[in-house]
Amino acid sequence: MELKANHAGAAIGFSTRKGEQVHARVASSFISWEQAERNLKELDGKNFEQTKEAARAAWNNTLGRIRVESDDAERMRTFYSCFYRSVLFPRMFFEYGEDGKPIHYSPYNGEVKPGYMFTDTGFWDTFRCLFPFVNLVYPSMGEKMQEGLLNAYLESGFFPEWASPGHRGCMVGNNSASVVADAFLKGITKADAEKMYEGLLKGANSVHPRISSTGRYGWQYYNELGYVPYDAGINENVARTLEYAYDDWCIYQMGKKLGRPSDELEVYKKRCQNYRNVFDPESGLMRGRNKDGKFQSPFNPFKWGDAFTEGNSWHYTWSVFHDVEGLIGLMGGKEKFAAMLDSVFALPPVFDDSYYGGVIHEIREMEIMNMGNYAHGNQPIQHMIYLYNYAGQPWKAQYWLREVMNRLYMPTPDGYCGDEDNGQTSAWYVFTALGFYPVCPGSDQYVLGAPYFSKATLTLENGKKIEISAPKNSDKNRYIRNLTYNGKSYTKNYFTYSDLLKGARLVYDMDSQPATNRGVKESDFPYSFSRDEAK
Ligand code: CA
Repeated sequence: MELKANHAGAAIGFSTRKGEQVHARVASSFISWEQAERNLKELDGKNFEQTKEAARAAWNNTLGRIRVESDDAERMRTFYSCFYRSVLFPRMFFEYGEDGKPIHYSPYNGEVKPGYMFTDTGFWDTFRCLFPFVNLVYPSMGEKMQEGLLNAYLESGFFPEWASPGHRGCMVGNNSASVVADAFLKGITKADAEKMYEGLLKGANSVHPRISSTGRYGWQYYNELGYVPYDAGINENVARTLEYAYDDWCIYQMGKKLGRPSDELEVYKKRCQNYRNVFDPESGLMRGRNKDGKFQSPFNPFKWGDAFTEGNSWHYTWSVFHDVEGLIGLMGGKEKFAAMLDSVFALPPVFDDSYYGGVIHEIREMEIMNMGNYAHGNQPIQHMIYLYNYAGQPWKAQYWLREVMNRLYMPTPDGYCGDEDNGQTSAWYVFTALGFYPVCPGSDQYVLGAPYFSKATLTLENGKKIEISAPKNSDKNRYIRNLTYNGKSYTKNYFTYSDLLKGARLVYDMDSQPATNRGVKESDFPYSFSRDEAK
C-alpha cells in the first residue's frame, strides 16, 4: 500500500493469542524503498532484548563521558536528564548507502547526495552553548555536523539558521557564522574552510530569496548605516543588529585565521562594533534607532518583541558576547555595569506584551520564575550572569548561577523553566554545573562560574580527563576562595579550550563568604575585543 499526504501515518495490528509475542522490525528512509530495506540492517539480526541492550550500552557510553558524584539523587537526576537532552539535537538526517558511506536526501534541492546532513536545530538558540558543548565533548560528531553544514550551503546557497529539515522562516540573526567559526577555530573540522568562509560572506551580505531569516534580513541597511533601523519596516531590528555585529566578529576571527586580505578583514573588524550604534546612553540600554539616527520614541525597555526577539531591552542589552569590555565602557565603567546586571534581578517582573497582543509563554515563565526581570526560560539572557566576571565581581555570578540551577531545573515533568530548545537550555545546565561556560563562541574561552557538585570528571574524546574537585562544595559554600589547576594556583577567570584538551585537574577551595575574587587581576579577565584586539 502507498500513501501520499503532507501528514501520513500507519498503524499495524496483529491478531494474537494470550501471551503470544510478536516481533516486528520497521525501517524508514528519506531516500527510497530500497534504502529503507538497507537501513533495516542497522538491527543486524538482533532480537528485541539484544537491541535494547545495545541501546543501553550506547547511552552509557555517551552519558558516561561525564561522571558527577553527589549524595543528592534529585540533583543527579537533573544533571543526567539535562545531559541526555543536550545530545538529542541536531538530528542525523543521513543514511548509509550500499557502499557503507553516508548519503542524504537533500531538503534543500530534493536530490540524493553523498555525505552528511543534520537537521532540527535553531541556531538562534543553539549557537550559544549547545554547539560549543558538542565541540568540547563530542568533536568527531561536531566534525560531521560541519560537513553537513557545508553540504547545506552547497545545495542551497546558504547556511541554514533554523533547519527543519530545510530552511525555516523562524527567529533572527545570522548565527551560523558562530557555529561555523567556533568549530573551525577549535580545529575540529576538516571541511573545506575556504568554501565555508565563502558561505559566511554570502550569508552576511544577502538574504535568502524566500526565507527572510536565512542570511541577513535588512543587510543593506546594516551595511550602510551600521544598524537595522527601527522605522524601516523590519521587525526585531535591534536584536538583528546585535547578533549581526557578533556574527561579524566571528567572520573576522575566521577570516584572520585563513589569512584573508586585510581590506576584507577590516570590514568585519569594523562592523563587529556596530552594537554601539543601538546603545542609548540615556537609558544605558539597547534601543531602536531610526533611519535619521534618532532613537525610537517612546521607548519602553520592558516591551517584549518590537525591536527585540522574544525578550525586551533588559534581556538583549547583554548580547555583545565578543566585546563585554566595550559594553562596560558604554555603560560608564565596571561599577555601573555590575549595577545594571544587579538591576535585572532587582526589577519587578513587569512587562509590556502589546507587540504580541497577549502574554506569550516566555513572559509568563519569567513571572513564575520570580527572579525579577531575569528570563532564563528564553535564550537571550542565558549568558548574562557570567558577565559579572568581566566587572570583577565573580562572587555574584557564583551566587546567581547556583540560584538558577537550584530554582529553575528539577527532575520533574515541570522541571524546565521554558522551552528546552534543542538542547540549549540543557547544555547551559551541564556547563554551569561543571563550573564554566562559553560566553563567546568563536573564542577559545570558557568563563568561570563555580562547580555545583563536589566531584565531576569529564573524559574527552582524546582520552584526557578534566577532573573537577570541590570537596567543601554546598549551597552555603558556593563561592570560590581558591582554585588550583594541575596543582598550581590559578587566577584567571576563564579556562581555554586548548588547555582543557590537555587534561586538567581542577581543585576548588569553596567558601561561604562572598566578595572573594581569589586574586583575579584585570589581566585575568576573559577576552573582550576592545581590550584585547581593537588597539
Ligand atoms: Ca527559546
